[in-house]
Amino acid sequence: MQKKRTFAASILHTTEMTDSIKLSLPHMGGSEQHWINEAFRTGWVVPLGPNVDEFERLLGEYIGAPGRVVALSAGTAALHLGLVMLGVGKGDEVICQSFTFSASANPILYQGASPVFVGSESYTWNMDPAALDACIADRVRLTGRKPKAIIPVHLYGMPVKMDEIMEVAQKWDIPALEDAAEALGSEYKGKKCGSFGRYGALSFNGNKIITTSGGGALVCPDEQSAARVKFYATQARENRPYYYHEVVGYNYRMSNVCAGIGIGQMEVLPERVERRRAIHALYTELLASVPGVKVMQNPSAAYDSNFWLSTILIDPTLGRTPDEVRLALAAEDIETRLLWRPMHMQPVFADAPYYSAGGVEERLFDHGLCLPSGSVLTDQQVERTADAIRRALQ
Ligand SMILES: *Cc1c(COP(=O)(O)O)cnc(C)c1O
Repeated sequence: MQKKRTFAASILHTTEMTDSIKLSLPHMGGSEQHWINEAFRTGWVVPLGPNVDEFERLLGEYIGAPGRVVALSAGTAALHLGLVMLGVGKGDEVICQSFTFSASANPILYQGASPVFVGSESYTWNMDPAALDACIADRVRLTGRKPKAIIPVHLYGMPVKMDEIMEVAQKWDIPALEDAAEALGSEYKGKKCGSFGRYGALSFNGNKIITTSGGGALVCPDEQSAARVKFYATQARENRPYYYHEVVGYNYRMSNVCAGIGIGQMEVLPERVERRRAIHALYTELLASVPGVKVMQNPSAAYDSNFWLSTILIDPTLGRTPDEVRLALAAEDIETRLLWRPMHMQPVFADAPYYSAGGVEERLFDHGLCLPSGSVLTDQQVERTADAIRRALQ
């Protein structure tokens, strides 16, 4: 068998044995091409149109937010417009989970606001509610003003301790902008992630649970705010016969061609979530006999992660760092990745205040590893990965 495969070939021939095992590849369902062709046949090769409307309708139905989902060019754009809608501007502070991808925090800087980072609890690995409460109290004491928004993140698909976070948010009357970019399909107490905060951001990047090749969506509190998000996303053109602008606009709408991919992906989304959960269950079973390795689990029945990525913690007493394991697997053409390096440890955010909950996320970064988890993976590939981990730790 050929060693080098093209990217497309590795995606399309998913059932074939492959040499290379990747972290999270796109996985087409079959009807995406039909909807792309529809865009071409009808001439809607523009950033609006019937595919965009239908994709939004399907998402709204799935999330439980009918008529309140706006399809955008990226998850980052969704987070940015969420902040715009919440009135975040120059001089404001926005609280963000430290343990996340930089795209959760960058839009705070786009608005000229300042991020304040909060540490994680070890139960879900997400924002610690007590640390959030202490952080807000301290910011109010120091600055005389409340932070303008809170960004909790359902990392790797695991729901945030949502009740506790929303309780703190309500106590201080600060809106939450939920980063559900990795959590499409995840549920907390039977309710879909992305539908808890005032706003919720989704991502359809190529590595996410479903893809539009690149794209995102914002879940809004009502139809009026959804209409306003569409207005901002299409250059904030006022309703006049000439171009007239009262506020700053953005070019953030989703292409009707990309939305065609999204419609096809929505048909298979439940299967994709099921497959990621099955891969997680298989890792759990295969790695149960490897001492010092723990696969991250739903902490209780209230949490139902989509397991976008399966993750493990490696006991430091084994004498192998996650990076050594990563390199050993890379030598066998198996891609793994270290957990997110917390934002308060990133040079770009060096000046931002940080409220620790005991340094949980720093230890997770030191001891954790993300495993190949794409729904394209075969059981054999998961078994090969688990075997390689076992050997790397011997
Ligand atoms: C992917 C991701 C984003 C950004 O989404 P894009 O569609 O890539 O812009 C934001 N937050 C988190 C946690 C993500 O994983």
